[in-house]
Amino acid sequence: MSTDSYATASRAADLAAPISLTAPSGIDREAHHRLDEAWLAAAWSHPTTRVFVVSGGQALIDDTPDGRTELVMTPSFEAPVTETHRYFLGTDADGVRYFALQKDALPGRMDQSARPAGLREAGLLLSPRDAGLLVHAVALENWQRMHRFCSRCGERTVIAAAGHIRRCPACGAEHYPRTDPAVIMLVTDDEDRALLGRQVHWPEGRFSTLAGFVEPGESIEQSVRREVFEEAGVTVGDVEYIASQPWPFPSSLMLGFMARATSAEIDVDGEEIHEARWFSREELRAAFESGEVLPPYGISIAARLLELWYGKPLPKPGELT
Ligand SMILES: [Zn+2]
Repeated sequence: MSTDSYATASRAADLAAPISLTAPSGIDREAHHRLDEAWLAAAWSHPTTRVFVVSGGQALIDDTPDGRTELVMTPSFEAPVTETHRYFLGTDADGVRYFALQKDALPGRMDQSARPAGLREAGLLLSPRDAGLLVHAVALENWQRMHRFCSRCGERTVIAAAGHIRRCPACGAEHYPRTDPAVIMLVTDDEDRALLGRQVHWPEGRFSTLAGFVEPGESIEQSVRREVFEEAGVTVGDVEYIASQPWPFPSSLMLGFMARATSAEIDVDGEEIHEARWFSREELRAAFESGEVLPPYGISIAARLLELWYGKPLPKPGELT
């Protein structure tokens, strides 16, 4: 692969594997219905409507006889009673409407194979439809939990718009779900080596792309350059956007980039990043095979960025002996 290979392979469609939580879910969110209580009540009680419970970032998932994994959903008349924490998530192409209920606990398991799962596990297993529904519900739940009080006057707020607004009864303020932009970038140098770092709290051998939050008053390109310099002491020139991924842990949106270094010397900050190294493809392959570097796993866009540079699928944990 040439040094400029990523420039020609930069569209998300060219990524060697789909990015979890990013595929089209086929759900129309129908935001224009969120303030229409009569419409919502009719949608809720319709016999084809499907409901799942979200609690602490988890929902029940189950395996199907044909080998798939699904969210456990019920008709609304079988759903546990809820007072206010009901999120309308949207409608699929068949006209089926979906709601999530935010509860303090998940319902009892209906059969042996149903089990609670968070997005990090379920995101790898569920269909794009179910993964999209779950990521929407978890993002709303996280926001609702952390924004119970008005940031303007301190009064307790109440849920509105089928989970998408919190209103303050004292001062009238309306609060909307927030998403915190974060940048994640694979930095390459003149020799087309990739810069990977190990965070202070990560286990030995786990290396990944650098990442960080966008700061107030900063463009995302500036954020990429600042984060790379702060964490690894490397200066960055060209920055190319690749793809994004919702990351509600608790409320981020990961913006994925390829970035070109204009310096090679590494000087890690020691606070966030414990160690950073340049890897050629051959060096990374050898490090995977020797066990010095652990293959990436999980749903993060980091693995997809690395794969885009690597030029072929990365080994999965357990594939190496
Ligand atoms: Zn207020």
